[in-house]
Amino acid sequence: MDFELTGPQKDLVTRVRDYLATHITPELTAEIAETPEGGGPEWKAYIRQLGADGMLGVGWPTEYGGLGHGPVEQYLFFEEICRTGIPIPVVAVQTVAPAIMRVGTDAQKAHYLPGILKGEIDVAIAYTEPDAGSDLASLRTSATRDGDEWIIDGQKVFTSGAHMADYIWLAARTDPDVPKHKGISVFIIDARSPGISIQPTEIMGGLRTNTTFYDEVRVPADALVGELNEGWSYITTQLNYERLALATASPVERALEETVAWANENWRNGRRVAEEPWVRDALAAIAVDVDVLSLLNLRTASMLAEGTVPYHDASLNKVFATELHQRAFGTCLRIMGRTGGLVGGIGVSDGGRLARWFMTDVLLTFGGGANEVHRNIVAMIGLGMPKS
Ligand SMILES: Cc1cc2nc3c(=O)[nH]c(=O)nc-3n(C[C@H](O)[C@H](O)[C@H](O)COP(=O)(O)OP(=O)(O)OC[C@H]3O[C@@H](n4cnc5c(N)ncnc54)[C@H](O)[C@@H]3O)c2cc1C
Repeated sequence: MDFELTGPQKDLVTRVRDYLATHITPELTAEIAETPEGGGPEWKAYIRQLGADGMLGVGWPTEYGGLGHGPVEQYLFFEEICRTGIPIPVVAVQTVAPAIMRVGTDAQKAHYLPGILKGEIDVAIAYTEPDAGSDLASLRTSATRDGDEWIIDGQKVFTSGAHMADYIWLAARTDPDVPKHKGISVFIIDARSPGISIQPTEIMGGLRTNTTFYDEVRVPADALVGELNEGWSYITTQLNYERLALATASPVERALEETVAWANENWRNGRRVAEEPWVRDALAAIAVDVDVLSLLNLRTASMLAEGTVPYHDASLNKVFATELHQRAFGTCLRIMGRTGGLVGGIGVSDGGRLARWFMTDVLLTFGGGANEVHRNIVAMIGLGMPKS
């Protein structure tokens, strides 16, 4: 396997990096320091601009209005986005849209894909329930057919982004009389439908997730995605795409670069911080891990490009990446001491992003599936070990 990027791939990285450097304004950066998950006017204008300039569809096929690049280019693009620390509607662009392309009806493709591509439609994922997290197939939210409509009843927890989303991608039980994995369907429903209520849950780092309630929510028959009772396979495929999006190396690379620069410029106990042996060891270890993660991600993106669904490979990357984020940001914070821990202070540039990253990225270790569960997937599917 050749991991060297091709000339056009290198050009793409440069083009995206230059584009982002000119479009991320100090006003946007200041707004994101206050509202890290986006949603403000500067952020909305930025996302629409990315959409208008075709940047959200780097990896989308041309038939859906994308630039027609493959998964490797999509991955390279997303690394550049993550390096900036400014969020994009990643769930809609990189996980829901590909699922609609694969299993959506023509009407769903025509309705959702152009809006997602332009940055005008955002989607939240509603899988998890109070008693269905790791054991997602136990979900109890129901969808019952009534004439030309489905009636949805139940409760979801951790529906991140639901308060900003236009639509909710929701898993519901449509057949209670078959084994639990076989009676689940996926719906895409208007987030403002009567009967939906959304309650905030504040989480570390200034972010928010939501509990969402569905009280006899009537949605049209064509809200069903793909085939009835085939939802489990759509969910697992969507989660595989999501796992890749959770595993980026660029935030760690940026924290590393900026911590190295800081350690070179700052003095402690009569010498430059960069001369302290433990600091050198710790930063070198992070540099090794960043390279390993980049190669793991390129390998997984290459598998996707070849048409292979990366089951345990996506899990392996997710575990390695999310634990590296915690380890690396924590190490950089320790090196910087009090300075690094200031949210809104210096730290890594842009208003203390390092401390924020440290606090927010802990959720990646259990969001998208707890790392212990992913380790089981690696053991069972990757290593051929028995189910525990
Ligand atoms: C901030 C945040 C945002 C989220 N966003 C979304 C979202 O947008 N949409 C959505 O649908 N969900 C979302 N989630 C839910 C997330 O995917 C679940 O939290 C995750 O799947 C774990 O489920 P749980 O919290 O019910 O934990 P549980 O399943 O109760 O697990 C609790 C503990 O038991 C361990 N455990 C459970 N089962 C096993 C097993 N088989 N083997 C080994 N260990 C096990 C886990 O590792 C974990 O530490 C979010 C969660 C958080 C915290």
